[in-house]
Amino acid sequence: MSATTLAHTAPVSTDAATRGLVEIRGVSKSYSGHEVLHDVNLTVQPGEVVAILGPSGSGKSTLLRTINHLESVDRGWVTVDGQLIGYEQRGDKLFELKEKDILKRRTQVGVVFQNFNLFPHLTAAENIAKAPVALKRVSKSDGHELALGLLAKVGLSDKADAYPRQLSGGQQQRVAIARALALTPKVLLFDEPTSALDPELVGEVLDVIRDLAKLGTTLIIVTHEIGFAREVADRIVFIDGGHVLEVGTPAQVFGSPTHARTKEFLGKVL
Ligand code: ADP
Ligand code: MG
Repeated sequence: MSATTLAHTAPVSTDAATRGLVEIRGVSKSYSGHEVLHDVNLTVQPGEVVAILGPSGSGKSTLLRTINHLESVDRGWVTVDGQLIGYEQRGDKLFELKEKDILKRRTQVGVVFQNFNLFPHLTAAENIAKAPVALKRVSKSDGHELALGLLAKVGLSDKADAYPRQLSGGQQQRVAIARALALTPKVLLFDEPTSALDPELVGEVLDVIRDLAKLGTTLIIVTHEIGFAREVADRIVFIDGGHVLEVGTPAQVFGSPTHARTKEFLGKVL
């Protein structure tokens, strides 16, 4: 695959002293002429927990997917720890990387989806060890040890040999979190991690995310669990119609939202 030239230019800051861990700058994205992200800017600091809230169809998933280049962007750029994701800079232009290099850089960013997406034919431990063994030249036995350690971290030490179908939704999602951690990403993205779960299983997954937050893991979480967002997030981002309308501490956004759309949304969900 040859590199694709993109329409946008890229004044990428490389000043390590001032940049955030994740920098999203001027990101716009359209699907067949319909703009779903409009000039999105967001900086996430190391160790920060950012919750993204917004109505259905507002662009939350698309934004998250641009952070690890599961979606390309039409304008703007994303860096993680100063490194462009999905693109390389030549002069003042960005070129899309080759698939192999996209994958390499994507290992900096872990993702947990709504529907777990575990490999059904692999055990919990094999699901977790797969990427480190395939991408980081970790030996199979080291990969297994790594998996056991991560399973302990999510409270599933006894499930190493279980297949996904033998696990509850909450357990599967905890395995998915352990799998996302296996490549020691610099930031972990969650896209509605509890939306597919029966209500009684939501708590165990939120507990794991809460523990990660306490350990100082950098997290960006799209969620409809407003109470949880309020409790764990350092900052709340409210997005509507592809526009970031509000960014602030939970106290600011929940206590005194500045935008009418935020008030309306919070009025419905709180
Ligand atoms: P959210 O996660 O906030 O519900 P999404 O990011 O999934 O919103 O979607 C934002 C908008 O982009 C929606 O209008 C959706 O229909 C549209 N969209 C998302 N993905 C695609 C796609 N692959 N092709 C066309 N339209 C899409
Ligand atoms: Mg979504």
